[in-house]
Amino acid sequence: LAKQVGHNHFQFFVASIDHDIRERKQLEKELALALPNHELFVVYQPQVNLANSRVVGAEALLRWQHPEKGLIPPDRFIPIAEANGTIVEIGQWVLDQACWQAAQWSREGSPIRIAVNLSAVQLRQESIVNDILETLKRHKLSASQLELEVTETSFMTNIKDAVDKLHKLNRAGIRIAVDDFGTGYSSLTYLKQMPVQYLKIDKQFISDLLNNEDDTRIANTIIDLGKSLNLTVIAEGVETEEQEVYLNERGCQIGQGYYYSKPVIAREFERFVKAFHAETVDNHS
Ligand code: C2E
Ligand code: MG
Ligand code: MG
Ligand code: MG
Repeated sequence: LAKQVGHNHFQFFVASIDHDIRERKQLEKELALALPNHELFVVYQPQVNLANSRVVGAEALLRWQHPEKGLIPPDRFIPIAEANGTIVEIGQWVLDQACWQAAQWSREGSPIRIAVNLSAVQLRQESIVNDILETLKRHKLSASQLELEVTETSFMTNIKDAVDKLHKLNRAGIRIAVDDFGTGYSSLTYLKQMPVQYLKIDKQFISDLLNNEDDTRIANTIIDLGKSLNLTVIAEGVETEEQEVYLNERGCQIGQGYYYSKPVIAREFERFVKAFHAETVDNHS
């Protein structure tokens, strides 16, 4: 019987891998058409200065509205786009959208810093520095208004090349953030060599911040590390007032999370900022 069960199990396992591969192949095919078919769009999530409750920035996040399958989360399709290289084109499109939007907000009198995720695959492109600087020019956006979020994996394949490119971008005035800090192959050597201005504490350490002592210690350590290296620390995944209060008192400067707002389309983002600022002015008077 055991043999029988084992065998069935194995067949089930193979069938399920087969199903996953087919599904991925299908998604890959559809993803190739997503950009020309206008199925991709960008949403913005506010970043809030914890000390004075002002919105200081926005992270641009990609969304895919599939005609039949509905909204597909980036965690499902970005790895596919990275594996087949289409992330280069898609990432450039996101950068264009985000820079246009940030420039537009500046023209409307509410300048804001825009954070865009840069894939390790994009950073490996020979032309990436030029592409980014060209994009700023095209949209007449000041380099100081753009922040690029890179993960620690970006430094792994060719650290010298990555450092070199980030230095060029940084010297042009663009800020660099290490995203999901603490979840990758964190090495303090990388951090020392990198021209980095922001550390983003991954949301996995924030969600249980006040109940799990390990998470509290990890968050504290990242905040202290930021302080000693003179970096601004951003907490992602802030969902409660208690987390906000703790992070602010502990010295974390910026918060991002559902407690303020989910990532929303530009129009909604504008409404959010107005309402949020009106509310915080009220609270202060
Ligand atoms: P990320 O860059 O670390 O982005 C933060 C993720 O946390 C976002 O997920 C955001 O919606 C989510 N988040 C923010 N606040 C909260 C919260 O309070 N609670 C919870 N549970 N989640 C929160 P999203 O939008 O699904 O994106 C997932 C990942 O996909 C991103 O993680 C990033 O790695 C990648 N991604 C998204 N857009 C792009 C893009 O344009 N280019 C590249 N290369 N990657 C992208
Ligand atoms: Mg990010
Ligand atoms: Mg992150
Ligand atoms: Mg993350």
